[in-house]
Amino acid sequence: SVIIKIQNLIKTYENGNIKALNGIDLEIEEGEFVSIIGQSGSGKSTLLNMIGFLDVPDSGTIEVAGIDLKETKHLDEFRSKKIGFIFQLHNLIPNLTVQENVEIPIYETSLNSKARSERALYLLSLVGLKDKVNMKPTKLSGGERQRVAIARALANNPSIILADEPTGSLDSKTSKEVLDLILELHEKENVTIVLVTHDTNVANLANRCIEVLDGKIISS
Ligand code: ADP
Ligand code: ADP
Repeated sequence: SVIIKIQNLIKTYENGNIKALNGIDLEIEEGEFVSIIGQSGSGKSTLLNMIGFLDVPDSGTIEVAGIDLKETKHLDEFRSKKIGFIFQLHNLIPNLTVQENVEIPIYETSLNSKARSERALYLLSLVGLKDKVNMKPTKLSGGERQRVAIARALANNPSIILADEPTGSLDSKTSKEVLDLILELHEKENVTIVLVTHDTNVANLANRCIEVLDGKIISS
């Protein structure tokens, strides 16, 4: 079934002078792994931010996991229950341990502290960091930090993972490891993934590749 449904989405900045999204129509099925590709400034991040309810459009409709953005007043709750975010820069909290970072989204759920800890440890072993759970992120390599960020994104069992250039700051070998991990998790955790990239090789790993230019989808 359809988990993301977008109709005629328009988003402008600077009093309408910048048309970041210029009439986007898009449907994504539950469990799909979709990439959004396009050159810098084409509107990829803006589109991803809309799907994550991080920003509101000028017009058009957007429905995610059965929730219409216009009709919900509980955006934080929606995001913390349904969406896991992975960014180019991992955004880990430096003075918390790896495990504590992964536990953050779980505080929004009803799990008690024992279950929270178990979930975090399960995810950290899934991403191959079982032996680094008590370290601070600053002690890790770039690829390891991104794997922590991936574990954190999965922590609250989201329906959708939104990833914005998740390998953008990694070298090619580390990128490949992180991408392999994302592919593996897509299969194991049965989650819908929307991944933004400017890199064709990365985009081609997805089940479907959506190309954006000047705020419009030019191929899908
Ligand atoms: P991409 O992710 O493909 O690089 P973006 O979605 O970041 O593209 O940006 C699309 C266009 O909207 C660009 O021209 C960008 O400069 C502009 N833009 C994005 N966010 C903002 C903002 N918060 N304020 C003003 N302009 C913005
Ligand atoms: P990307 O790496 O995907 O191209 P950007 O670096 O363009 O992303 O944008 C990073 C963040 O800055 C986004 O949240 C975007 O909305 C915001 N942003 C992009 N362009 C502008 C702009 N011209 N003015 C203000 N904010 C912007």
